[in-house]
Order: sequence, then C-alpha cells, then structure tokens
Amino acid sequence: MARIDVRRGRAYGVVLASGDELRADMVLSSVDPNLTFLRFMDPSELPDDFVEDVRRYKFRGSSGKVNLALDALPNFTALPGDGPHLRGALSISPSVDYMERAYDQAKYGEFSRRPYIDMVIPTLTDPSVAPPGKHILSCFVQYAPYKLASGTWDEQREAFGDAVIDTLAEYAPNIRDIILHRQVVTPLDLEREFGLTEGNIFQGELTLEQLFFARPIPGWAQYQTPIRNLWMCGSATHPGGGIMGAPGRNAALRILGRTA
Ligand SMILES: Cc1cc2nc3c(=O)[nH]c(=O)nc-3n(C[C@H](O)[C@H](O)[C@H](O)COP(=O)(O)OP(=O)(O)OC[C@H]3O[C@@H](n4cnc5c(N)ncnc54)[C@H](O)[C@@H]3O)c2cc1C
Repeated sequence: MARIDVRRGRAYGVVLASGDELRADMVLSSVDPNLTFLRFMDPSELPDDFVEDVRRYKFRGSSGKVNLALDALPNFTALPGDGPHLRGALSISPSVDYMERAYDQAKYGEFSRRPYIDMVIPTLTDPSVAPPGKHILSCFVQYAPYKLASGTWDEQREAFGDAVIDTLAEYAPNIRDIILHRQVVTPLDLEREFGLTEGNIFQGELTLEQLFFARPIPGWAQYQTPIRNLWMCGSATHPGGGIMGAPGRNAALRILGRTA
C-alpha cells in the first residue's frame, strides 16, 4: 500500500505501490500516525493543529534483535545443561543497577555495551523450525537508541551484534562455538523492513502523555480521525501497544456503532 486516497477530507480507498486503486467505504489504518497521516496522505488534508500533534508524537525506538542459528543448546553457567529452564523466557538482567547502566549509554546515544537481553529458544517448543539438533536463539535486546550520537546504524550493526554475543558469552561460555549464523536487527532495520517509525516496537512510545485518552493524539483517542471514513485501529491507539488485538476490537466496535 503506497497511499490512502484522500480527497477533500474524505477517504475513498487505498492506492497500491503498483498503482492499482482499491475503493472502500471505510479505510482502517493499523500503522502508526507518522505513516498514516504524514506519509500515506498529503498532510494539507488535515487540520494544522492535528498535523502539529502528529509531528510531536514521540517514537524514539530503543530496542533491537539478534537472532542466532545454533549448532547446539547454550550452556548457562547459572544452571548448566539442558532442562525446562531453557524452554521458558531467559533474561540477562542480573540487577537493577545493571539495567540502569545499560540505559545510561542509550541516554547519550550509544547502544548498551552490556545490554539487557530477553531470550527464547523457539526450537525447543517447535523443533520443526530448524534442522534436527539445530536451534534458534532469539534475543530481544535493550537498549539500542534509534538516534545514535555518532555514526549510523548501518555502520554499527555488527558492533551491536558483537556486544550481544560478548554479553551472552559471560553467561553461556559455549555460545561462540555454537553460532552458525547471526541476524542483527537494528532500530533502523525495524523501521525499514516493518514500517515501525524510528524502530519503535509499539508504534510510538508508551509514555504517559501518549497513553489512554491521549493515544495517539489528545482529542482523537476514539479511533476516529479528522478524515471522514478513515479510522485508526493499531498499536498506536488505546490500549496499544502490545500483542493483544484490543485496539482493533475497540475500533471495530466504534465503527459498527457509528454505522449501525
Ligand atoms: C522486536 C519486537 C518485540 C516485541 N515484543 C513484544 C512483547 O513481548 N509483548 C507485546 O505485547 N508486544 C511486543 N511487541 C509489540 C507488538 O508486536 C505490537 O504492539 C503489535 O504487533 C502491534 O500490532 P498491530 O496489528 O497494531 O500493528 P503491526 O503488527 O505493526 O502491523 C502493522 C502491519 O502493517 C504492515 N505495513 C506497514 N506498512 C505497510 C504498507 N505500506 N503497506 C502494507 N502494509 C504495511 C506491517 O508490515 C505490519 O504487518 C514487540 C514488537 C517488536 C518489533
């Protein structure tokens, strides 16, 4: 989808990248306000104060991912060997001070050299996603600020991956020997590949001024938008973000109530 077809304050459908036009009575956007209002339509269709609020909406993504293909299971010194602990959520967050230090670097525009890492090994739950005996270790990594103080994410991607492996090696010393492949996903990659502005995993920061009746924009928290027949229904609306589907359900109920 390349554009929402908006004319004189009303949505008529969407235009695909191919140029094909899809007509619709209602358009529901489950992408963030930046894409919806500033990228996918001409902002001049919107009231000026609304556009200002959209521009003020904060994203500032702060996480990345490192996915590892492994030849064997990691062996954690805290609880060596295989076991049920590997089937749950694994976290490298040894103390509040550790996490605070990890965040300190992000405050000044650097990724954490010793990051806070949440991991899962999906191959222990569903072995079919890898060849027999091989495993995937999926690491959710904090903190990785979208805006770096120096350099670009394309330049720093591998250094970020190295920081994650160095950290893992302190807790699972066999990790370097069992890595077959690694995929490092920076906040910039989240933006480029998945359309998450500034790499924010929740389509916008979960800060108080952007929650509840103010998500995404004060006065526009009921899924409706200033454009007739255009509604918001994704993680940038209440009670997003997160994997729960509630914004979509709420939006559907509002629309049904409106159209009943
Ligand atoms: C790394 C990561 C970890 C996360 N961890 C958690 C967690 O542990 N718990 C939790 O609750 N939530 C987590 N989240 C957040 C959660 O995934 C989101 O809040 C949720 O997926 C939002 O759902 P949505 O349907 O509103 O939007 P999305 O899932 O963002 O769906 C929007 C869709 O629109 C598509 N799109 C974008 N641009 C276009 C276009 N131009 N044309 C067509 N399609 C387009 C996108 O590809 C995407 O499929 C995580 C997210 C990430 C990225």
